[in-house]
Amino acid sequence: MEMERRTLFKVGAVMGIGAMVKALGLEAVIAKEGGETFEVTKTDSEWRAILSTEQYRVLRQEATESPFRNQYHDQKTQGTYHCVGCDLPLFSSQTKYDSETGWPSFWEPISVEAVGTKTDWRLIIPRTEVHCARCGGHQGHIFKDGPQPTGLRYCINSAALAFHPA
Ligand SMILES: [Zn+2]
Repeated sequence: MEMERRTLFKVGAVMGIGAMVKALGLEAVIAKEGGETFEVTKTDSEWRAILSTEQYRVLRQEATESPFRNQYHDQKTQGTYHCVGCDLPLFSSQTKYDSETGWPSFWEPISVEAVGTKTDWRLIIPRTEVHCARCGGHQGHIFKDGPQPTGLRYCINSAALAFHPA
């Protein structure tokens, strides 16, 4: 693992961040990131007042909830998943699938305008973070091992979602 880390750092330093992201195949989904402003903004204490502790940790601190022990990971009911922070519809049950990861997984958001992305460097390997485009609330991450037609997996925290049955 140490060797792997050192190699990745070296590769990242030599290639530059942009090239590294491109090499990892994420350029398409993060093309529009950067310099975002949000329609819904609140102070930290206002967010704490309207969100549960778990919702706050996920939406505002980018925490990841436990796999399988979350509300929607195996839910198959027809309906729409809204941002729990501002109620913007983000995902449809029609693009939800069982990724067997223990988190709600979608191969596409409800529209390209509904979500924003940024590169998350918390782990050694960059990941594509995904958030609500209206309030900036963290939703989860996007991976490239999803099913067709997109090949993407939007790995979302149940705590960031509010389900509205069809
Ligand atoms: Zn939102």
